Amino acid sequence: MKVHKIALPTPFQIGDVNVYLLRDGDRLTLVDTGTSSREGERVLERKLAEVGVRVEDLQQIVLTHYHADHAGLLERLVARSGATVYAHPLTHDLIMPTATSLAKRVAFFDHVYLGMGMVEETRRQSIVQQVSSYQDDMGRAGVDVVLQEGDRLPGHEQWRVIYTPGHSQDHLSLFDDTNGVMLLGDHLLQNIASNAFIEPAAREGEERPKTLMIYRQALRKIYDLEWQVGYPGHFEEIRNYRELIEKRFRSQEKRARMVVEQVKAGKRTGLEVCEALFPKAMNYLPLVMSETLGHLDWMTAEGRIARETTEDGVWMFS
Ligand SMILES: [Zn+2]
Repeated sequence: MKVHKIALPTPFQIGDVNVYLLRDGDRLTLVDTGTSSREGERVLERKLAEVGVRVEDLQQIVLTHYHADHAGLLERLVARSGATVYAHPLTHDLIMPTATSLAKRVAFFDHVYLGMGMVEETRRQSIVQQVSSYQDDMGRAGVDVVLQEGDRLPGHEQWRVIYTPGHSQDHLSLFDDTNGVMLLGDHLLQNIASNAFIEPAAREGEERPKTLMIYRQALRKIYDLEWQVGYPGHFEEIRNYRELIEKRFRSQEKRARMVVEQVKAGKRTGLEVCEALFPKAMNYLPLVMSETLGHLDWMTAEGRIARETTEDGVWMFS
């Protein structure tokens, strides 16, 4: 069994994305694809060639999650290789959105941003458009085979699927317990805390998932497993994972305390709390709003703060 790390450029602030080539005998599987760009495709071609592999040789592609830096090049790679695509059951609809699902996504984020206290409609519309248009960059190709918790990756049976939602609801990690290797996607990164993005419920009629709480549970899951090295979707490999996860937990707990303090000090809306916590980062509104709402959800669930909804649809915390 061999795992080759391939770093590919992205236009995003995070920098390169790492995709991984798994090779067992003549079985070749690529984990994640990089973004949909000619440059990324050329770098991938070149780096595969260094280990004697052509894009056309790829037999399987596994997606850790639907984000554009991980799944963007899927359409091109499938067209060239005919590879079978494996991912979580939710991934297909996320990378193949319909006009109806996109409209629902816009309505969802409009509801959330209003809830957070962004009452001016024009301001809300532009940010909602920005958040929901994220799916426009997806490489359109369907998922052929779904992978769920406990499944073995076909052709690479030592890799077990671990469901690790939170950063996205369709997030999978792969764990080779014979060698103590974890393929982490964006579940845990060395240099930055992974964001538990606010997302609509995956299924009609369900409540909005409390993504930060879900993320913390899934971090606990990989904390409890014994592994040696983790290969993440960005930055360098992770060896000190328990220390790193404890650090993430501590900073989430600290931020949660700050959220409660801000509410106690009289900040009533999510937007007010967000501005108090991230005065310099309001340009990254979708990120910091996710952070803020995630912590507000958590503290509300713990009974540390309470939430009421005004007639206009704004959530008021106390
Ligand atoms: Zn991601």
